[in-house]
Amino acid sequence: MVKRAKGKGKVDPCEICGEDRWTDLAHFPKRKRNDGNDVISLCPTHHKLVDNGRVKKVEMERLWENKYSDVAGNVEGFIEWAHKNGYPYTLYDLKRKFWDRN
Ligand SMILES: [Zn+2]
Repeated sequence: MVKRAKGKGKVDPCEICGEDRWTDLAHFPKRKRNDGNDVISLCPTHHKLVDNGRVKKVEMERLWENKYSDVAGNVEGFIEWAHKNGYPYTLYDLKRKFWDRN
């Protein structure tokens, strides 16, 4: 589980890093402009990174563990599920963009 920083805000913490002083309600896996109505709590940095497909494997693993472990048995399966449900990036996209370089 994400550890909430002590004595911080009253909003839900970021599902990836636990930041809770400022979080957005991020549309995921579908973006808002594509009629996405499922929202998760993400800090502004992770919101942008997830939206732009620049999220690292370890960050996607956090999101999968915290919120989506019921949809797939591993992070790769989670991303395939997300892509099928409207997330614009495939596992291949994420690996090519970022995962193999970090
Ligand atoms: Zn975050």
